[in-house]
Amino acid sequence: MKSTMMTTPLLVSRLLEHGRSVHGNAEVITWTDSGPRRTTFAEIGRQAARLAHALRDDLGVTGDQRVGTFMWNNAEHLVAYFAVPSMGAVLHTLNIRLFPEQVVYIAGHAEDKVVIVDGTLIPLLARVLPQLTTVEHVVVVGAGDTAPLQSASQVTVHRWDDLLAGKPDRYDWPVLDEDDAAALCYTSGTTGNPKGVAYSHRSIWLHSMEVCMAETFGLGPADRELVIVPMFHAMAWGLPYASFMGGASLLMPDRFLQAAPLAAMIEQVRPTHGGAVPTIWNDLLAYLDAHQTDVSSIQEVVVGGAACPPALMHAFSERYGIEIIHAWGMTEMSPLGSVARPPAGANSDESWSYRYTQGRVPAAVEARIVDPLGEPLPSDGKAVGELEVRGPWITARYLGDSEPDPEKFRDGWLRTGDVGTLSPDGYLTLTDRAKDVIKSGGEWISSVDLENALMAHPAVLEACVVGVPDEKWSERPLATVVLREGATATADELRDFLADRVARWQLPERWAFIEAVPKTSVGKFDKKVVRARYADGALE
Ligand code: ADP
Repeated sequence: MKSTMMTTPLLVSRLLEHGRSVHGNAEVITWTDSGPRRTTFAEIGRQAARLAHALRDDLGVTGDQRVGTFMWNNAEHLVAYFAVPSMGAVLHTLNIRLFPEQVVYIAGHAEDKVVIVDGTLIPLLARVLPQLTTVEHVVVVGAGDTAPLQSASQVTVHRWDDLLAGKPDRYDWPVLDEDDAAALCYTSGTTGNPKGVAYSHRSIWLHSMEVCMAETFGLGPADRELVIVPMFHAMAWGLPYASFMGGASLLMPDRFLQAAPLAAMIEQVRPTHGGAVPTIWNDLLAYLDAHQTDVSSIQEVVVGGAACPPALMHAFSERYGIEIIHAWGMTEMSPLGSVARPPAGANSDESWSYRYTQGRVPAAVEARIVDPLGEPLPSDGKAVGELEVRGPWITARYLGDSEPDPEKFRDGWLRTGDVGTLSPDGYLTLTDRAKDVIKSGGEWISSVDLENALMAHPAVLEACVVGVPDEKWSERPLATVVLREGATATADELRDFLADRVARWQLPERWAFIEAVPKTSVGKFDKKVVRARYADGALE
């Protein structure tokens, strides 16, 4: 029997209309060099309509043509987030920190027709623009000398304000197929070229509902979310779309991502939640420890994108009353995969041990651990294997591939490349990425375990552990360490400290004290670079 339910498509335009009307007073606050700039969801709705008119009438964007953004997190980026998919075109969030040749690759692969750029990013875009041969129009947001853009003869340059001026503040959003692409994001391409993922209207909707659920981030009208995770990194973890669904206000840091301005905006704008990778929270913690700042408005922050060191969670909880919620995800997964909230009834000690894990998957995500041949392993909290996932907001293949790439997909499952265990009650614990696990004499050493243990040492600000070739053991761990300002510690002291926390055979023999751990375009430890630096096993 067929159901009697309406088959209303789940569209981004509906999220926009809902946020604009029902949550019209919710705020979008963009940080600037002269403090906060405020607007409302109602105004974002009007601007989105104006932008859609401009893209269609003035720039000739039709059908599913691609509109790229080369932008920080700010109100105008949010306008593009809604306008472009709602009109039926496809939003492509270009990662401004990729290498120039990667930007050229992804804009060409996506066939971007328009690029919207922040005025402050003109010099960066101008470097590659002549090679972005599909791009016909560039729209500049805010001030900024547009002269460098003229080097690209194929492109017409427009000013955002001029383009939107006088356009109607309502748009008759088309009824689209909910499975149509709404937005594109490319993986940051740690190996080979970045791979494209096309999110659908439906996947964005379902994902937004999950982000609003209490079991994950519980976004609602009482919240003000500090969105530090870039809008070009896995759609800022879905927070912008979910905020229009749940009515949570947004604090957008624009280009002010260092600890000092983050602390200033927290004190002044008083967000209740936040989201960023561990390295950002680590920097902020060091800053807060040295500069008295009122961060009492924040209750919880989501930390994901890389394993969160337990020492960081404890420090925020004990010193600032801020609870870090550990989450795991991937660009391929929209990105929400799991969130580490303890089960009901767990006592304080038990709660912590649950919070260290990567957490539990939501109902829409199925997860399993498999052996190297793809055979499922038991969810007993002991069997270690590669994690595979499937679900309605997980990509089934990469953009442009006619068939799923067998390296990344198997029998309808996404092979995450992450290694770990699943417990009987559904908690996922990742020990490492498959490519970062250190293979020493037939045994595996988790680089993450060593890093977490090292980062619990009071003198250590950052620790990144990689495998380096070793004649006898095939690979051995090498620890690179960044000490806190003014702190001292020797390799022997750190080895002794580790000896109480990990098995002796895992203790690194090789140590390097460095100024900063190299970071990827989205702020994670760049282990590929660290490995390459010490590939011959010799220390600098
Ligand atoms: P990239 O692969 O370029 O870093 P993604 O942001 O999509 O881009 O990265 C997804 C990967 O990040 C996951 O497969 C996993 O290895 C890692 N990751 C994300 N969150 C966590 C977490 N909480 N703990 C451990 N690893 C994580």
